[in-house]
Amino acid sequence: MTDPVPTKVQSAREKIARLRARFLEQIPQRIAEANECLKKLGNAPGDHTAAVDLHRFLHSLKGTGRSFGFKELGEAAAEGEDIAAHLIDPIRSGLPTNWHAALESCVNNIANALENLTRNLTPAQQDDTSLPSFNLPSVNTETSRTRLLYLCDDEPELVEQLAAQLGCFGYQTVTFTDTQALRDAVFVRRPDAVIMDIRFPEGQSAGTEILVELARELSNPIPAVFLSSRSDFDARLRAVQAGGEAYFQKPARAIELITVLDELTRQQKPEPYRILVVDDEPEIAGYHCVLLQEAGMITYQINDVSRILDTLSEFQPDMVLMDMYMPRCSGRDLAKLIRQVPDYIGLPIVYLSSETDKQKQFSAMRVGAEGFLTKPVVAEELVAAVAIRAERMRTLRSLMARDSLTGLFNHTTTTQLLENAISIAKRSNSTLCFVMIDIDRFKSVNDTYGHPVGDQVILALARILQQRLRNSDIVGRYGGEEFAIILQDMSTESAASLINELREAFSQIIFHATDSEFNATFSAGIASFPAHRRMELLREAADKSLYEAKRAGRNRVVVD
Ligand code: GH3
Ligand code: MG
Ligand code: MG
Repeated sequence: MTDPVPTKVQSAREKIARLRARFLEQIPQRIAEANECLKKLGNAPGDHTAAVDLHRFLHSLKGTGRSFGFKELGEAAAEGEDIAAHLIDPIRSGLPTNWHAALESCVNNIANALENLTRNLTPAQQDDTSLPSFNLPSVNTETSRTRLLYLCDDEPELVEQLAAQLGCFGYQTVTFTDTQALRDAVFVRRPDAVIMDIRFPEGQSAGTEILVELARELSNPIPAVFLSSRSDFDARLRAVQAGGEAYFQKPARAIELITVLDELTRQQKPEPYRILVVDDEPEIAGYHCVLLQEAGMITYQINDVSRILDTLSEFQPDMVLMDMYMPRCSGRDLAKLIRQVPDYIGLPIVYLSSETDKQKQFSAMRVGAEGFLTKPVVAEELVAAVAIRAERMRTLRSLMARDSLTGLFNHTTTTQLLENAISIAKRSNSTLCFVMIDIDRFKSVNDTYGHPVGDQVILALARILQQRLRNSDIVGRYGGEEFAIILQDMSTESAASLINELREAFSQIIFHATDSEFNATFSAGIASFPAHRRMELLREAADKSLYEAKRAGRNRVVVD
């Protein structure tokens, strides 16, 4: 018989089964400690340390027990926690008179529940149905970078020219002059977007009709952009009603289309979210890590709070998931401590605790935490809560690291990344190329066509670099019309031919000014590591090559 459970799911279940077993193994030792606390409290009812320790034991046993699906154990602990909570309250209001006996009986119940569990359950039964199912959405998935566009217009020259321009930006294009052919092609290979004329000659369906038909037949509609010679309300309305995401009046300009197409076909960030899980109990921390890993995130757990600062700087999480009751310091104190470090002021912190007292939750959030999740947490809710906050952190970070016009890394970030890349290349004995690019005679573009048109040229180059380079390549806007590229693990020959291709593509783009069209070019200088081992020298060498390229007549690539 074939096993219906995919391997990945099985391994997550196995991991959790191991964590559950480990959790059960260490309870007897903790029961002994709890009894020790009870003994102290019997001798000295005011022993606050003993009360706090006992409360923490019961509290975490409640949370972890419930999270792992050990109901009886969780309930016994919950009952004890309730009493212990009154015990640690300085006023001790609501503490029952027979609290000591009641607590003893709770600890006994825990011991019994544990015995039942270990006696009655086979390992297979321990992997019970109370565990969440693992159909968690994968939050980020890696996809290829080349995006496929179908262009359909009955004027062959127009559509070919537009396709050629879009090709310069790294889009793969297929052109059609017949709506039926386009429709058939969609079912052979699905494009990332369709660019479509509205009106076609007699005998062919209108562009809008084909789109409506396709939307009916496809479970997931293809983003569509309409082109039309008309710009009246009726035409635009029909396009919107057919599901069009954008509308351009002919002649459509590639440069303007690109902005919309980039947005419509944007692929998910390939970088998985990085989540730090802080919990004094390794088993429950491990359990939450497994849930997040199943959704495609990278996790790291610490059980000893004193490691927090080192871990934050090494692991660079997008979010911290934090327990509230831990030895040495509470989650509240730890959150406050993190917030006092300027680098982590914006780092999202979410508590994950079995604390259900709203007042305590609010008090913990007041130090700047972002949210509160209650153990046992529903797997899907955990993933969603974490993903939303991690994504926001990403956005915030990227706003700080990136240039606002182009979205490329800014000068500071590019410099940092170059430094990192050099140290990685040193460690792994690999090569690296640093490329400096500068648009030719850009001042005259500004002078002739105006600053806004100049901005379009900068944007177009930024888009080409982003679209056509590998995910691992780093592209930065180094200054006004200067760009820098870090090509890791690449020889100077490959780098030169790659940058030359980009240079060709860029030089073919047609830019539009009020009543004229023009082209722009760039020059580039390339230098490499390990030929230049220090960052300053590498930059100098690339700059010198760029200067050479300018001197030799521009629109060329010079290798150091
Ligand atoms: P060369 O071929 O030698 O590089 O000549 P160039 O004219 O490109 O060189 P120069 O460095 O003298 O001129 C760069 C110009 O770029 C000057 C500046 O006004 C313009 N510039 C810088 N940043 C921006 C920007 O964000 N937008 C626009 N439109 N222009 C910018
Ligand atoms: Mg310049
Ligand atoms: Mg220039």
